[in-house]
Amino acid sequence: MSNENSSIHEFDVNLICEYFSHLERQGPGSLEITIKALSFIEGLDEQSKIADIGCGTGGQTMILAQHTPGQIKGLDLFPTFIDLFNKNAQKHNLQERVKGIVGSMMELPFQAEELDLIWSEGAIYNIGFERGLREWKAFLKPGGYVAVSEASWFTEERPQEIHDFWMDAYPGIDTIPNKVAQMQQAGYVPVASFILPDNCWLEHFYALHARVQETYLKEHAGNKAAERFVANQRHEEKLYNKYKDFYGYVFYIGKKI
Ligand code: SAH
Repeated sequence: MSNENSSIHEFDVNLICEYFSHLERQGPGSLEITIKALSFIEGLDEQSKIADIGCGTGGQTMILAQHTPGQIKGLDLFPTFIDLFNKNAQKHNLQERVKGIVGSMMELPFQAEELDLIWSEGAIYNIGFERGLREWKAFLKPGGYVAVSEASWFTEERPQEIHDFWMDAYPGIDTIPNKVAQMQQAGYVPVASFILPDNCWLEHFYALHARVQETYLKEHAGNKAAERFVANQRHEEKLYNKYKDFYGYVFYIGKKI
């Protein structure tokens, strides 16, 4: 297997965490897109309870908090991200309303029908879109919303190279109509779905990686795993540039009935 084709699954989580700790967001997204997704959600007030699942260091959570009332809990598997998340909340003077907790999306630490909104940008793939939507629904109040961004195909067919890449990285990727149907089958009214524009990847994600990669490689000089990880990230970026007409992230917003 060539370096470039190493699977993301093979890398040490500490190396991955360290790399992503240097970035404000750990997935494609932007201020505008978080606000746009939020515009489809109605009825939030000071009493609302919101969870941001797979929150990372909280780039999108802080935007959410600045544009909506209510209490927000960010949940992530990795303590390093949660430490940075809580520092981030303090920096924005949001610590009274925004709290980061370590936990798993497979076993959410919430009560049945406790939440008004479940948010998750670029993270539900860790449990799988269908399973995540089904399991998380139990924690939403009737009439509550879910808003998640998820890798999706834009076309019915696509070149073999990008098909093979995704079948290895995340075989749960599917077309937009199929994802919307899955949302409906999981017990939500699909309220909206929209494609994240490519600046969410190019400007707000990959462009910021270039700087991080340089320092990261210096810090880990001679570390083959770190070099392979960076090569892998660069390969992903190249694929995105080559095949961005065929896939991307899509925001799906649903209302529990
Ligand atoms: N929402 C953030 C981070 C997206 S990256 C953003 O858009 O920037 C995906 C996140 O999911 C990472 O922070 C990763 O640590 C987290 N994650 C992975 N598996 C998880 C699990 N089982 N439970 C909770 N979080 C998990």
